[in-house]
Amino acid sequence: MGTRKRQAPPPAALGRAGTKKDLPDHFKSYRHVWVFIELERGQVHPVSFELLGEGRRLADQLGVQLAGVVLGPPADSTRHAVAEAFAYDADLVYLVEKPLLTDYRNEAFTKALTDLVNAYKPEILLLGATTLGRDLAGSVATTLLTGLTADCTGLDVDADGSLAATRPTFGGSLLCTIYTLNCRPQMATVRPRVMCMPQRSNKPTGRVIRHDLGMLEEEIVTKVVGFLSDGQSENANLAYADVVVAGGLGLGAADNLQLLKNLAQTIGGDYGCSRPLVQKGWMAADRQIGQTGKTIRPKLYIAAGISGAVQHRVGVEGADLIVAINTDPNAPIFDFANIGIVADAVSFLPALTEVFIRRLAPGNSSELR
Ligand SMILES: Cc1cc2nc3c(=O)[nH]c(=O)nc-3n(C[C@H](O)[C@H](O)[C@H](O)COP(=O)(O)OP(=O)(O)OC[C@H]3O[C@@H](n4cnc5c(N)ncnc54)[C@H](O)[C@@H]3O)c2cc1C
Repeated sequence: MGTRKRQAPPPAALGRAGTKKDLPDHFKSYRHVWVFIELERGQVHPVSFELLGEGRRLADQLGVQLAGVVLGPPADSTRHAVAEAFAYDADLVYLVEKPLLTDYRNEAFTKALTDLVNAYKPEILLLGATTLGRDLAGSVATTLLTGLTADCTGLDVDADGSLAATRPTFGGSLLCTIYTLNCRPQMATVRPRVMCMPQRSNKPTGRVIRHDLGMLEEEIVTKVVGFLSDGQSENANLAYADVVVAGGLGLGAADNLQLLKNLAQTIGGDYGCSRPLVQKGWMAADRQIGQTGKTIRPKLYIAAGISGAVQHRVGVEGADLIVAINTDPNAPIFDFANIGIVADAVSFLPALTEVFIRRLAPGNSSELR
């Protein structure tokens, strides 16, 4: 694998010594942009649509086609995933439809995806940085002996047509842009909500290329015997919530988290926190927002007692409206909040909740919009 790290100016400004002509000849047989359409237990993960939007942009820049890759059992859910890939503007879909692909198992999915890559040679392959996507991307990249840039926050095409994959480094204090110089395909994962959700194009259909899976059940050591609830599935939607209320160390005590929950419940939102609250054991890790937690893009984000460190900021700056409550008028969060309130969050949150309760009471004509 040949990757090169450097601090990132905007990718468009990057120039590289070589041109595509200088790339090894066999690279030229790798064309088109692929997006892995993540289908788990019948549901397409929305990150796949976000990546199709991003993939469309890259494919148009390169003048190549955008393909979705659907791996699943012979079932309506698989056919629905194919239709959804076209609805989000894929030009074609590579489909492996086999009973072995009913539940995600690394061996079968890695074989299906690496076989497809070896047969049809995409130049760029994008996957969601979900639990499934991370597992699959790592094993596919390792099997293909190619480069993988994980958890990208920006993707672009360089002057010579190479993928410029930007991601945070040094604890989030720097961004670096990574190139896969010596191998193909160029692989990248992107976390849910990092890229914008594109409009549905409602393209009715397109070309489907079916591929076989030369694998038998006996070759797969992993057997799925059932699914257990992790007790956290109620949290699964934090990344896609329209309203999020989050708390930081400024709340002072674990008991005060109830103030967040009360406000979130009152206004129909979800709640989260900064990293130190997870480290203190005050909140579950899957409620952490930021670089090493969830990326969110709500319509409204209320941050109470959060300083606004860069590692938190990168997870929330896609919000439409950021309201920050902080006792320190110089807190960094006020640099990017739309509305800043200098106040003690422990007394302000219940007062705000009371106002919303009154405004939203049945019979009161005022509504939250
Ligand atoms: C590799 C790495 C990854 C990281 N990933 C993440 C991440 O994903 N998410 C994340 O959040 N952090 C992350 N961090 C940590 C990050 O750098 C900050 O330390 C963290 O975000 C600070 O949390 P905080 O704002 O809650 O606490 P603090 O920085 O301690 O800020 C507390 C804020 O509360 C204010 N305050 C105090 N009392 C009150 C009150 N009564 N009412 C209102 N305001 C009050 C203070 O003025 C202060 O601004 C990461 C760090 C590293 C090195």
